[in-house]
Amino acid sequence: MLTYEQYQQRLVDAVPRLPAEEVAVTDPVALLGRVIATPVRSAVPLPGFTNSAMDGYAVRAADIAAASERSPVTLPVAGDIPAGDTRSLRLEPGTAWRIMTGAPVPDGADTVVQVELTDAGTEQVAIRAALPEGAAVRHAGEDVVAGDEVLPAGTLLHPRHVPVLASAGVQRISAIRRPRIAIVSTGDELVPIGGEAGHGQVVDSNGPMLAALVHEGGFELAATRRVGDTGDEVRAVLTELAADADLIVTTGGVSAGAFEPLKLAFEDSDDDFDFVKVSMQPGKPQGFGMLGDTPVFALPGNPVSSLVSFLIFVAPAARTMAGRSPALPTGTARVGERWQSPPGRTQFARVVYDDEGRVVRPVGEQGSHVLGGLAGSQALAIVPGDTTEVAVGETVAVIPLAGLA
Ligand code: AMP
Ligand code: MG
Repeated sequence: MLTYEQYQQRLVDAVPRLPAEEVAVTDPVALLGRVIATPVRSAVPLPGFTNSAMDGYAVRAADIAAASERSPVTLPVAGDIPAGDTRSLRLEPGTAWRIMTGAPVPDGADTVVQVELTDAGTEQVAIRAALPEGAAVRHAGEDVVAGDEVLPAGTLLHPRHVPVLASAGVQRISAIRRPRIAIVSTGDELVPIGGEAGHGQVVDSNGPMLAALVHEGGFELAATRRVGDTGDEVRAVLTELAADADLIVTTGGVSAGAFEPLKLAFEDSDDDFDFVKVSMQPGKPQGFGMLGDTPVFALPGNPVSSLVSFLIFVAPAARTMAGRSPALPTGTARVGERWQSPPGRTQFARVVYDDEGRVVRPVGEQGSHVLGGLAGSQALAIVPGDTTEVAVGETVAVIPLAGLA
């Protein structure tokens, strides 16, 4: 049997890297979660012009050098410079302009006196403090010089990158596309979400769950389909989806039963498709193959197995395709209540946090079909294969599951 790390590495190595494409910067929200392929250089200096950091008065520091609380210096006010004023103005020595935050500092001024240090006059202003030259002035180019690299290649676009991207004076950037993932639920027993499950039937919960994981993982949903338990139908649907999707995820039909459609479709074919057993719980039976250049991940059908398999195998591979690091963020926590783990297999145990995330304890029932326990869990604890008894006080690695308010 393969360890989950070996199998994960095999998948990460097997998937193609998606190409970069030129995209307009005008919808930066649509770029979130995409990796920049070519460094972004600013076409303009930032700030673009020398401007005021305060509401106050633009002056020459030399003209207010003698000002103090006891003997303010009074200067005539030439007028107002609001933010957005596009005039090119000059300051005559011995005068002041009233100026607002972000407004262009007039030529000849070297200092801004904040309004709180003055009498706020409009015809003339009494200034009660001397200031060093340059106070409250933001100089053109002090943040970014034209030509500076502002976002290196490899940047995963996040909201914090948006201001500099929007301000850099560039129209287009080169970014890697988010993988478009198609999801196929297999099983004659499945009825669609919103439908009523009769005797012997179950609602397809994996399809919607995987769609949600695709969304949460920063990928795009290409399609969701349900197919019955025949190899021919599975092959036909996967072939059709492979024409458009970057990656396909299937659930169900990979274990040892009599009607396992993924196995029927691929096991004895010439395709490059492997079914393996991974020493993990849940998620032991796994399948992977390439349909042309589209990777297909065949996950087991139990909902918990599907979720774990997505996080441990699909997400790292899809992140790699997107130019991101494969590893999901993990943490550690101390065990607050003992539980058992199967010998020889890595256990991904559903746990809840105590003590503000420092301590974990197991959710009651660990069966891979238990939907309530899955919903109630807050993280997956990773228990190594050589551990059979997870003891109180031990430290375990955890993969946090989002959704804590
Ligand atoms: P399989 O891997 O196809 O043998 O399915 C294992 C178990 O998971 C069975 O109890 C199935 O009914 C259940 N199952 C498979 N696919 C889904 C699905 N899409 N939604 C909910 N349960 C499923
Ligand atoms: Mg099935």
